[in-house]
Amino acid sequence: MGPGDAVQMTGRAREALSVSDVIFGYRTYLKLLREEFPGKELRESGMMKEVERCRDAIRTAVSGRKVALVSSGDAGVYGMAGLVLELLRDRKGGEGEIDLEIVPGVSAAQAAASLLGAPLMNDYALISLSDLLTPWETIVRRLHGAGAGDFVVVLINPRSRSRREQIVEAKRILLEYREGKTPVGIVRSALRGESGVVLTDLDRMLDHEIDMLTTVIVGNSETIRFGDVMVTKRGYGKDKNVKTKNEK
Ligand code: SAH
Repeated sequence: MGPGDAVQMTGRAREALSVSDVIFGYRTYLKLLREEFPGKELRESGMMKEVERCRDAIRTAVSGRKVALVSSGDAGVYGMAGLVLELLRDRKGGEGEIDLEIVPGVSAAQAAASLLGAPLMNDYALISLSDLLTPWETIVRRLHGAGAGDFVVVLINPRSRSRREQIVEAKRILLEYREGKTPVGIVRSALRGESGVVLTDLDRMLDHEIDMLTTVIVGNSETIRFGDVMVTKRGYGKDKNVKTKNEK
């Protein structure tokens, strides 16, 4: 369903929702859809109820109704698409076929980037700091990899009420590889009502509010800040007359 605001939804997502009989999703997201799609049966469920929600959606589809199962952003990026496919694979055959379409959407990383300028102009790594499903040691290894590889780093699920320290550790690790003045963008509720946008740097990023509605983008060695934007340079401005050894 994209980042939140109705206008940010793709045409295909809107079509799919309009023709569906029932819409399944996390409570917070269905609230955003209620006004846009009046008359639809909405089946809300809470956080951590993902498996149940997907099973329910599949069961309802098998019964012959048209079902939409929504994720925020893109359904295949930390969304429900993978789980639905796994559950469908695991079903013991003969219980009725369903047609499945995975509809892509504007992800949090793209939404946040658009409000910050153009920080994702070159290679980037998207890392979720939630260790609910991924062991923390794995996340740490990936932070080091992204730091060493000079990737721009997009951090999602950065900090919750019970998970306070992961973002502190992520900052510490990235500081092993980049300077404290590296531009950092912090975007809360991107393209969802009133977005909060902060431009700061790696040294000072923790002075700002960071929570589960926030995406944090840490620049790489090529990211610059001017005015109120951050841009990762892609190399367009380089002098083409200076030939590298191989081109001579
Ligand atoms: N499928 C989603 C990601 C779900 S993970 C997508 O493609 O965007 C949820 C995390 O994404 C949140 O904790 C937050 O870090 C980030 N996020 C989702 N929507 C956001 C938004 N509108 N603004 C900023 N961050 C967002």
